[in-house]
Amino acid sequence: MLPCGHAANAAEARGCAHLVVERPPDHYGWFTGVGLAYDLLCGECSKDDDPRSHLIVVCVGCADRVDDYSDLLGWFGQPEIRHRDTEPHGMWTTADCAVEPVNGRCVAALPGGWLVLTEAGLVEIDQAGSRFVAPVSLAVEPPDRLPADPPRPALHTSPDGRYAAVVTDFGRYGVVLDLVTGAPVRSLDRGDYRYRHASYPVAFLESGAGTVVVTATDWNRLDAFDLASGRLLTERETSWSGDGPKPEHYLDYFHGALLTGPSGRWLLDDGWVWSPSGMPVVHDVAAWLGGDVYATEHGRGLSVRDSWDHPMAWVDEHIAAIQPIGRYDQPAVAGVEVYDVVDGRRVGAFAGPAGRMWGHDGLLYVVTVTGLEIWDPEDGARTGVVAGFTPIAHNPRTGRFAELTGGRLRTWTPAS
Ligand SMILES: [Zn+2]
Ligand SMILES: [Zn+2]
Repeated sequence: MLPCGHAANAAEARGCAHLVVERPPDHYGWFTGVGLAYDLLCGECSKDDDPRSHLIVVCVGCADRVDDYSDLLGWFGQPEIRHRDTEPHGMWTTADCAVEPVNGRCVAALPGGWLVLTEAGLVEIDQAGSRFVAPVSLAVEPPDRLPADPPRPALHTSPDGRYAAVVTDFGRYGVVLDLVTGAPVRSLDRGDYRYRHASYPVAFLESGAGTVVVTATDWNRLDAFDLASGRLLTERETSWSGDGPKPEHYLDYFHGALLTGPSGRWLLDDGWVWSPSGMPVVHDVAAWLGGDVYATEHGRGLSVRDSWDHPMAWVDEHIAAIQPIGRYDQPAVAGVEVYDVVDGRRVGAFAGPAGRMWGHDGLLYVVTVTGLEIWDPEDGARTGVVAGFTPIAHNPRTGRFAELTGGRLRTWTPAS
């Protein structure tokens, strides 16, 4: 028999006695320092000088009842953060480069170098120097009073380096350019509803036929276009007047930042739903482009979170990582959640990583003020820090990272 009055079982927890009632009061989580485990405390006990003296062992049923019927208002203490750093090995290059990216970060990978969005337009850079590619003219964003993140330009490149998308994150418009001719080939417009609340939904992928751009054409609709022909690949009916019964394929979801998986089969969508809550969703692009035209109306929701537009990355073809740790009803904890996108379930979480993030070769790379941290999602530990290196772009094929600041281009490629 446990102190809560119920039979002992393997998965017991600890909490104060005030929470072992039919309708527990709101509570706090007190990290034990082992992984993400935490003890449960009522508001009074959380203020005590010695909260530990109030803890009793409770059964999993009592702990679940606290989770179900009371809100977790905040955290105390620190979760375990695992560091087992060793010296990172990689290859460096350094070159003078006076090209200045917009916002200090609008740089994207090309097969042989990097593409930079500057005030004058697109510039290609590599170790040998720089070459002006094309001016960029974006549609003027409509004035908007909504107090969301300010609109800002963002740059994406296709895997083969043929195309670039210049878009306005937290804005409505964008453009796709052909980097060979320098000409715009497609205007992007995600519609006039609530576009100020998320990064621009756009991603490139290579299909058997050629390069495809996936982008939102309305708040709740993604489309795919073949860029060589301009052809719409995902013709379907998705509109609904709001009268009568909801159509079978109607989607009540605001698309957000898109991230293509390593093989191009899966697409991670960092969108949101009312109330508002963040809801990362995975789309099966192979099925969608293979004829299941409503596949993106029926994506796989991974979780419901209290916010969105956070760093996310692919660890491998089936595993995605999303910052921070959190649910819609709990304060977030700095760290990473790991999801199996095929099963659509969370397979791990660990505290520590916080910052812009890329995945490569099964590892996560996270930029902090002090450098590039390397995390192993298998055991949730930091395995190294490339000190003083704060990259702004990554080439997913070569693994190379680029930092462009102070008139200097530095790259680092982790040893494989
Ligand atoms: Zn208490
Ligand atoms: Zn119990």
